[in-house]
Formats: sequence, structure tokens, C-alpha cells
Amino acid sequence: MKENMLLLAKEKLKSIYGYDEFREGQRHIIEQVLNGVDTIGIMPTGGGKSLCYQIPALVLPGVTLVISPLISLMKDQVDALTELNVEATFLNSTLSAAEENMRHEQIKQGEYKLVYVAPERLNHPTFQHLLSQISISLVAIDEAHCMSQWGHDFRPSYLSISSWLEEFPQKVTILALTATATKQVCFDLQQFLHIPEHSVITTGFERTNLTFQVKKGVNKKKFMASFLASRKKESGIIYASTRKEVEQIYEDLRSQDFDVACYHGGMSETERSRGQEAFIHDEAKIIVATNAFGMGIDKSNVRYILHYNLPRTIEAYYQEAGRAGRDGEPSDCVLLFSPQDVRTQTFLIEQSDRAEDRQEMEYKKLQQMTGFCHTERCLQQYILHYFGEDTTKMCGKCSNCLQTGEKIDRTKEAQMIFSTIKRVRERFGKTIVAQILIGSTNQKIKQLQLNDVSTYGLLKDWTQKDVAEFIDILTAEEYLRPTGTSYPTIQLTEKTLPVLKGEEQVFVTETLAPAEPEEQDDVFEALRQLRKQLSTESNIPPYMIFSDKTLKEMSKYVPTTLDAFAEISGVGEQKKEKYGQAFLDVLTHFEGKQIPIPETGKSKPGKSTKKGQYMETAERFKNGETVEQLADLLSLTEQTIIKHLIRAEQEGLELHLSQYVEEESRMLIDEIAKEIGSEFLKPIKERLPEHISYRDIRFTLGK
Ligand code: ADP
Ligand code: MG
Ligand code: ZN
Repeated sequence: MKENMLLLAKEKLKSIYGYDEFREGQRHIIEQVLNGVDTIGIMPTGGGKSLCYQIPALVLPGVTLVISPLISLMKDQVDALTELNVEATFLNSTLSAAEENMRHEQIKQGEYKLVYVAPERLNHPTFQHLLSQISISLVAIDEAHCMSQWGHDFRPSYLSISSWLEEFPQKVTILALTATATKQVCFDLQQFLHIPEHSVITTGFERTNLTFQVKKGVNKKKFMASFLASRKKESGIIYASTRKEVEQIYEDLRSQDFDVACYHGGMSETERSRGQEAFIHDEAKIIVATNAFGMGIDKSNVRYILHYNLPRTIEAYYQEAGRAGRDGEPSDCVLLFSPQDVRTQTFLIEQSDRAEDRQEMEYKKLQQMTGFCHTERCLQQYILHYFGEDTTKMCGKCSNCLQTGEKIDRTKEAQMIFSTIKRVRERFGKTIVAQILIGSTNQKIKQLQLNDVSTYGLLKDWTQKDVAEFIDILTAEEYLRPTGTSYPTIQLTEKTLPVLKGEEQVFVTETLAPAEPEEQDDVFEALRQLRKQLSTESNIPPYMIFSDKTLKEMSKYVPTTLDAFAEISGVGEQKKEKYGQAFLDVLTHFEGKQIPIPETGKSKPGKSTKKGQYMETAERFKNGETVEQLADLLSLTEQTIIKHLIRAEQEGLELHLSQYVEEESRMLIDEIAKEIGSEFLKPIKERLPEHISYRDIRFTLGK
């Protein structure tokens, strides 16, 4: 092993990128590449694949060629490298003949360490000629799953890569990188590139900073509006499955004054890139898109992904969801499930003129995707199992891990709803059915003489909204089926029969209150504004200046000298020089807030702490650490910590949580819970004075 090369690699990691340690897998891949071994590297989106060839490119002699599928991706990577003072360029169809000639000259002069090329270019005579005149040590194939027909974004142009490599006149090392780990894709890559099994390096697929949630039976529009309202300052992607739906959501959000852009295959090239640019530069906080959007978007500060519809495969889902939190900061992936989406996808597969075995595979994949929405297992674990990782670890924060409390038996109420629908002969929609059950006295009910229906008023203790929500849940669980029209009426499915006969029961789990808005961090806000301003001045995306993670670290340690500033992870030499003073000017305003920066990057709190299982959290709480401290130490939100504690208490650990709530508040909460029931927290919260928090309610009621 060329020891000094590895040392040099580590030095570059610190001086150029400002990072202290290689991530899992990176070191292994880089070592192997520096040893001249052809390698396939498989890492999840955001895992840090770019560094696996960029660092060797800086250490090895000659040029590293990077084959990359998208023009926007190349431009982005080259911009980011230029920002780090690394000599990189690209060759693709956006260049004029004159520009191309000039770049060829510069490459021959040895002015670039990295050259990005589109696969279409590989066999061009002029490019071939260029190759014969320069020395190349490494060929990196980014998004290598595009080579395989089994990859979900197969690109015919990628097929030429393997024959091109076989005829390559020099001895080069090959590094293929992808986030798609299915056996078929990996097998194809090995065949095409002649890489043996033992040279395939796969890191764990877990994304510890992502929180997965599946929401069933919610009103999607309303959920989306309240979800987005609580994250107005953060960037996120909303994926929907059709162009039409994308446009509707876009219009809808625009009319509610959200900063939103839109992207789908039916838009013109210019319109699309306008939407994309606005999103990347943090001008539009939200982008609504079909799955055409995303590959080649390396924007690292995407804080949430909202799937408005069900994707077709777990691969596609995980790749899309994985676009959240590339910087390693906590981010959310929320999937809104409705049974209608399964039917849409089934229909699309049916309509596709794919070969039979291929169709069959797609049905199977769709079933596995649907299974993700129905499983009671940890959602992160479900995904890992899908990719063949054998793990029993629970993430501790997905919507299944946090499914607190007992399941509630709702058989009786379900029977009432089913009977009502039956009695009105499936002629009405959700609203009317709910109104009948709560015994509404409104005009329409009277006019239609629905107050004569025998179930009228049976649920008079419920609100209309709660009944409607329960109908949604029953729909998600496929007891009910809405007709596919603009004013759907509801029909019963065969699943209702055993329930009506009393042979089967219906359980629901408590719906969790919507996320409380995160607390405001003034320092972070100020840094974010400065970043935006610098971004506008230099016309590069904000995340390329510093990632959210780096800003978070700055706001935590508040460095006030240039030396201390350089200690922050993500601050390399170039960035320190270029932006250090501007950031220090802002940071000095917040001087009193700092906490000391630990000696080595390794032991920075909250950096590499493993996730707390809820019992571990609870034990630490018992030993005196506060919710705020735990949130910080374990890199979880306070909400998550609270949920861990409640779960632990429900399972018998004596935490006496209610004692952490003021006497007076406690009495008020109990009173209201008695009056309206404690099943849903939100109605309780709404009746209480502003200062009583969800935490108080949860601690008091133990839920
Ligand atoms: P991928 O291509 O695998 O999706 P990227 O190469 O875009 O991921 O990297 C994702 C993010 O992780 C980037 O913001 C990158 O700077 C950061 N990153 C990569 N390696 C490290 C590391 N060793 N330490 C800290 N951050 C890293
Ligand atoms: Mg990448
Ligand atoms: Zn989980």
C-alpha cells in the first residue's frame, strides 16, 4: 500500500473539504482505488460518493475522467469543485466548438485534475484523439446503475461505456458508483466492468438522519398545508405521480402564498430549468415535481421530502426520499398513502407494453412498496431488509417506532359507519355519512330525510371531522372504496362483511398530533441570511457556500476568530479565506452564546452519537439529563425525546413525567381531557391557554 498516498488523501479531506474523518466505506473505496483495484462502490444517496473519486483525483497523477449522466449534474459538481479551488471542468453539448477546442487545449496542458464527460461523447473521434494525448489514471462512472436495464433509470447511452473501456489504450482504474443496490443491478455492473464480487464495496444503507413517516387516511391537501406551514424556512420536495397532479398542487400552494416551483417532463426545457434553479438557490423553498426531477440535484439542504403519491418501487422511493438531508442534518420523509394510488400504479403497469416477466416483476415491486405503507415494522428496517441488509435494529423515530399506546378497538363505530353506508345504498360521500352519524340538523340532511336513517345520531359525541377522519382510515385499510369521481361516494368492500357479522374486529392506532414548529435559532437564521446574500452576489447555490450542517455547527460553537472558524467541519482552506471574515462579522454579534469547540472533531457532541433507543433515552432522563440536553446529545428533536419517554413510561419505567408539568396546567389538562376525551391531542391543545405545550399535555396524560 502506498501509505503516503493515503496520508495525502486524508490531508486533502481536511484542507480542501474541511472534514475530519472519512465516512464509512469512503476510506475503504479510496484505499482500493489508490491501489489500482477496479471497484464498484454502493452507498446510499447522500452517503458521500463524490469524494470517493474526487479525493483520488487529487492524489493520483494525471487526469480523472468522470462519466456522468446529466448536464446539470456536471455543471453543479464543477461549480462546487471550483468553489473549493479544485481544477475541474466538463465536456458536453452545451459548449460551442470554440469553447470545446479551448478546453481540450487546457486539458492537454494539464490544467485540470477532473474532467466530467457525458457518455455520448466517449466515442467521438475528437474526444478519442484527446484521450490519446493525455494521461488518465482513473475513470469514475457516477450513477452507474444507469448501465443496467434493471436500474430504474436506465440510459441507453451508458451501454457504450463497457466496450469503450475495453478498448481503452491506457491502464486505468475503474470506479463505478451507485445508490441502487439490488442484486440484479450489481450483477450487471460486475459483468459489464469485469469486476469480481470481492471488489464490490457496499456500505450500510441506513440513513440515520432521516425520519420516515407513512400517513394513512389523512386529508392530503390539509395535511400538506399544515406540514408546509410549519416549515416555511426550509427547503423540500413534493413528489406527485402525474403531471396533472403536480400542476394542481403547484397552483394550490401558490394560491396559499407558498414560495413554490414546479417541474415535470411536460414543461419546456427553459421552464424546467427555471424551476430547478429557483429551488437550488433557495428562492423557491418548495418544488413540486414528478419523478423526472432529482437525479443530479446535489442540493444538500433539502430538509424534507413529501410523497404525495405512492412511488412504484422501494428503490425509487428510497432514492427520492434519500434526497433529503445529504448534509447529515435531521430531515423528514413523509409518504401520504391512499389506496387509490395503488390502483393508479397497477393500471400504469397494466398499460405498459413491457414483456411479461418484466411486468410481473413490477407488480411484485409495487406490492413491496405497498407493504411499506402497511407494515407495522420499523420503516427504516423494512427498507434495509428490502436491500438485503439483515438487521433487527429499530430506528426509534419512524412513524411505526413511535406508534405509542395501545390499539383502540373501534369495531362498534366501524359497524355503524358501514351500516350507514349500506342503508343509504352507497349513494353519498364522506361528509353526508359523517353528518348522519353525528346527528346533524342541517338543511340537506332534513331535505333528504336522512334523519330517518336508523343510525342517525349514533355518534353524537363525535365531531364531524373525527368521523370523516375515521372514514379516511377505513378507506386506507380498504374497508371502504371511494368512487373515482370528483365528488366521490363511498362504497363498501368485501372486507366489511366479516366486521358486520361480528367475526372480525377493527383496531386503530392513535393519530399523532402534527409536528410542532421547530424552535427558532437566531444565530442559524442570521448565518442563513448571510449565506443567501453571498450566494446571490456570487451566483452559486447557497448550499455550495456552506451546508446547513456547517451553519448549524457554527451557530452552536459561535467561533469568533479565524482559527476557531477553521475548526468547524466543512470549512476548508479556500472557504476560510473566501468567506471567513464575512461570517465572523455576523458571529461576533452573538459572542456570549458560544460553547467551547472540543479538541478533536471526533468527539464533538451530537456528531457521531448513535441513536438512542427509547429505553436508553429514558434511563438518561432518569439520571438527570433534560429533554433539551438529550435532544442535543442524541441529535434528535425534542419531540422525539418526549415520545421516547412516554413510551418508556407506558412500558412501566417510573419516570413520573406528569410531575414535570406545573400543577395548574396539569389540572386544566385533566379537566379538558375528561370533558372531550383524551384520544386526540389537538382538540385538547386548542382549548388550552397558549402557554401550555404539547409536551405538557403528553406528560400529563402519558400519551
Ligand atoms: P452521494 O453522491 O453519495 O449522494 P455526495 O457525494 O453528494 O453524496 O455527498 C453528500 C454530502 O456529504 C455532501 O454535502 C458532502 O460534502 C458530504 N460529505 C461527504 N463526505 C463527507 C465526510 N467524510 N464528512 C462529512 N461530510 C461529508
Ligand atoms: Mg452523487
Ligand atoms: Zn423505526
